[in-house]
Amino acid sequence: MKIEFRGLEENRAQILIEDADPAFVNALRRTLLADVPKMAIEDVEFHLGPIRGEDGEEYESVTPLFDEIIAHRLGLVPIPTDLELFVPRDRCESCEGEGCTNCTIMYSLNQKGPGTVFSKDLKPIGDLHFAPVEPDIPIVKLGEGQAVLIYSTAILGTGHQHAKWQAVQAVAYKYYPILEFDPKDKALDESVANVCPVNILEAGDGGFRVTDIEKCTLCKLCEEKSEGRIKVKGDPTRFLFHFETDGSLTAHDVLLKGLEILQEKFAGVAENVGALT
Ligand SMILES: [Zn+2]
Repeated sequence: MKIEFRGLEENRAQILIEDADPAFVNALRRTLLADVPKMAIEDVEFHLGPIRGEDGEEYESVTPLFDEIIAHRLGLVPIPTDLELFVPRDRCESCEGEGCTNCTIMYSLNQKGPGTVFSKDLKPIGDLHFAPVEPDIPIVKLGEGQAVLIYSTAILGTGHQHAKWQAVQAVAYKYYPILEFDPKDKALDESVANVCPVNILEAGDGGFRVTDIEKCTLCKLCEEKSEGRIKVKGDPTRFLFHFETDGSLTAHDVLLKGLEILQEKFAGVAENVGALT
């Protein structure tokens, strides 16, 4: 099997997988969704009662949203994750689940109204590298005299446990498109080329041609319009695979981790098969 990057950005990647089959590619998709760990806010503690500001004013610790909604929103804020550094809290040997710098990031949020509280107001206690990746996610809008004081902790988890620990979104793949036709066929004219919704067909003096086969969505509109003169197929051994991350991890790191997890799983299966014989 061969994997090649077709496009790689910080938070998204397009890869070409060759010499594979749909079962493997789907296993990779599911692993990226459910098994690659990342950090997310898990515990949120709200200060109750009045909050005194630096100006001496007294604020009510109330907001227009229920605490549960705010906690849920904080859970979805992408938290920068270093998979080399962190271990799951329930398996942390240094603190045995109590919470320490190997398994937990602590944050505080202290804002007074009126105004909107954003994800950037979630301040890491200690290492400032762990400030939320996206600064401008609105959390709650505070009214006059309202304030919020929160202490929260982020821990490592996986998409299996809760979607807030899902490192990737929009994970999808398609068979590598194959278009078969006779380029010299006079019936393949502009009226056929124009039905393509992604504009990759060209009819000209040089004959009929495809400009960028990888953009083909296998919609078969050209096959229909050309009355079968163009045959659209998908190659079941080659796949164009695409995914995005929420910024907690880079697309590159997510893919490497996903492949590593798959490798471990397959090794486990191989070992058990060996034990049976
Ligand atoms: Zn720990």
